[in-house]
Amino acid sequence: MIVDRQGRRFRNLRVSLTSACNYACTYCVPDGKRLVAAQDELSAEAMARGVAYLIEAAGIERLRITGGEPLVSPKLEAFLASVSTLGLDDISLTTNGQLLTRKLPLLIDAGIRRLNVSLDTLDPDAFRRIARGGDLATVLDGMAKASQAGMSIKVNMVPLRGQNHDQVVPLLDYCLERGYELRFIELMRMGHLASDSNAFLQQFVSLQQLLQMIGEGHEYLQADAPIDATALRYEVPGRGHFGIIANESVPFCRTCSRLRLSSTGWLHGCLSSSNRHYIGDLLDKPRHQALPALQRLLMKALGDKQPVAFSGGATVMKIIGG
Ligand code: SAM
Repeated sequence: MIVDRQGRRFRNLRVSLTSACNYACTYCVPDGKRLVAAQDELSAEAMARGVAYLIEAAGIERLRITGGEPLVSPKLEAFLASVSTLGLDDISLTTNGQLLTRKLPLLIDAGIRRLNVSLDTLDPDAFRRIARGGDLATVLDGMAKASQAGMSIKVNMVPLRGQNHDQVVPLLDYCLERGYELRFIELMRMGHLASDSNAFLQQFVSLQQLLQMIGEGHEYLQADAPIDATALRYEVPGRGHFGIIANESVPFCRTCSRLRLSSTGWLHGCLSSSNRHYIGDLLDKPRHQALPALQRLLMKALGDKQPVAFSGGATVMKIIGG
């Protein structure tokens, strides 16, 4: 097992199935251009082999499928069919929910039981302004259908000052009423937000500010969370839970166990580092040749992790997956 001096190792793998997306969220895609799949995207089979090799070489236990938008990828079905046979403890998926109703039977058949659905507002106008694509009612309907089918749903919201911060409490109530767990994600200094401090600071809403807004109308208590969890978790007694991923306010790099694989075959050990390591060429090789080379690259990727805090990075979620 590859472990660093801080005792960190890779347990959680996030695979970006494609960089294509049917949204162009303002904080992720500053120029608003629709994201398409990279020309050198790996096949579903190669990506699934990558997952299998990483399970062996790094001790990966849990997989999250992300993007871009994973539900737009034509590789989804073949990828799910392969990775669902690999004996992972958990496979989950992050989606904007636009195609959820349509793809639900496929997800259920593949054994997916946990979804993170990104939703920044319940206001249709603000939704169009932020996501620059999609339709709010379709997302809400997809979540309801997934929940009725027995899926556990977490909702990801990035609070942005002046754009959707008035939605913090309404969205929390909406989620509590339906048994969804809301995760507020503090805005991260990635891509254009890493190089433009003003744009970042103007929009940033902190953990403290979120708790203050919530505390005005809700009682909450701190709840338990796994040691390598990214989110601080809170209970609203009698109603449910919510979480805050406080990258800036309470950095969690010290216990980070995440590894990312891009749709074009690059490993990323840290969101805050622009280092990446190509494994696409190893995926055609038999196991005994691929694994030693992969282990060397994993050591480098682990060495890319920040010791304490996320300090921003040129890479963007749309490429390496949130
Ligand atoms: N398309 C899928 C979705 O919408 O969930 C998966 C990919 S998306 C890049 C994953 C998550 O990253 C979303 O919840 C999104 O809000 C978040 N994200 C993207 N850029 C971010 C940033 N600069 N700061 C915080 N969260 C960000």
